Amino acid sequence: MQSRSVIVVGAGIVGCTVAYELARSGASVHVIETRAPGQGATRASAGILAPFIEGHGSTLLRGLGKRSLDLYDPFIAQLRRDSNHPLIYRRNGTFELAFSTADVTRLGELASLLADRGVGGSWIEPPQFPNYEPAASPAALGALLIPSHGFVGVTSLTLAAAAAAENFGARFTMETGAIRIVPIDDGRVGVHTPQLKLDADRVVLAAGSWSSQITVEGVDAIPVTPIRGQLIQLQADAGAIERVVWGPDGYLVPWPDGSVLVGSTVEDVGFDESHTADAVQRLHEVAAGLVPRLAAAEISSVRTGLRPKGPDDVPILGRSRVIPGLVYATAHYRNGVLLTPLTVQLVRALVFDCAADPALADLDPSRLGVRL
Ligand SMILES: Cc1cc2nc3c(=O)[nH]c(=O)nc-3n(C[C@H](O)[C@H](O)[C@H](O)COP(=O)(O)OP(=O)(O)OC[C@H]3O[C@@H](n4cnc5c(N)ncnc54)[C@H](O)[C@@H]3O)c2cc1C
Repeated sequence: MQSRSVIVVGAGIVGCTVAYELARSGASVHVIETRAPGQGATRASAGILAPFIEGHGSTLLRGLGKRSLDLYDPFIAQLRRDSNHPLIYRRNGTFELAFSTADVTRLGELASLLADRGVGGSWIEPPQFPNYEPAASPAALGALLIPSHGFVGVTSLTLAAAAAAENFGARFTMETGAIRIVPIDDGRVGVHTPQLKLDADRVVLAAGSWSSQITVEGVDAIPVTPIRGQLIQLQADAGAIERVVWGPDGYLVPWPDGSVLVGSTVEDVGFDESHTADAVQRLHEVAAGLVPRLAAAEISSVRTGLRPKGPDDVPILGRSRVIPGLVYATAHYRNGVLLTPLTVQLVRALVFDCAADPALADLDPSRLGVRL
């Protein structure tokens, strides 16, 4: 494999894991970030790995999510070895509660679809809840258990990837962001920050919601918009829930320390990263609706992040037509964590000019009808 120098713009989960994969593959990697690793959408993420819930009815997202989920076990094993960091990673399923006959029908149809695809999924009647989630609401009419789903600690994963990237020689420059990306005559790509003028064989643009704020010479604005998500953490008694519990208005994630994450809002409010009282109240109600004993739990923290959303909710991942050395890896919206192992594989193929992966045809920026 040819040696490559690569600048990665942005140190969220996408930037850090891409930096790790590229450095591990022999590239000379330099990451630049306006804040510190994992401080964008990544810090708020619930880390749920659930393509058959979060696919939101999109066959494409479900397929990509399933493929990425299948890569998760080896990805985590490798990262544990290379970083020597503890990682929170559980594959003990999701438990999606139905509260109406419409939910029962929808989840029943999903169970049949999963059976057709060879993915396990079982319908659990309320009398069986004590065997799975004893604290789940008795008002539920049943639940769909999808055993292959799970969750990962997103901050720990991101920091582990940054550490592993550094172990393979990657450099991180924090508190300086790209303001401009420019082509250079010999095919290299330049990245300007307020303080530095850098260049490399390849640049990977992984600045999440902020990708559209970086000027790329000769291309249109990247169509990525921030969608705020708020999430609360409750100090529950240990073992309140065993696995991710999902409902019509939100979800719960059991943290190993006994706390429970409750998510999440979906708000179109620009680049505003503040927490709001109404969101906290709504999320508390979501928690109590799914697991009534959480009504009395103390709120220990609130997290907010800006999900990077593209026009069709599908990531923008591919080479620029205008600056061939520039690779976009952004717009992962609600599935950035789930899609991480697949993303790093695809970016690696683009950076090292490997054979085209069929998934890239669906993710290529050219589909958007703007000059990128
Ligand atoms: C509440 C919430 C819950 C979520 N839950 C899930 C979930 O359960 N499962 C799932 O798969 N996904 C989930 N997501 C989505 C997931 O978190 C995102 O898709 C993912 O974090 C995007 O990662 P990223 O690295 O692209 O962006 P970010 O994490 O936003 O990282 C971008 C980085 O770029 C930096 N940056 C900005 N401007 C510049 C610049 N000019 N130069 C250099 N760096 C710059 C930023 O500071 C930031 O660190 C959730 C998101 C939210 C908000």
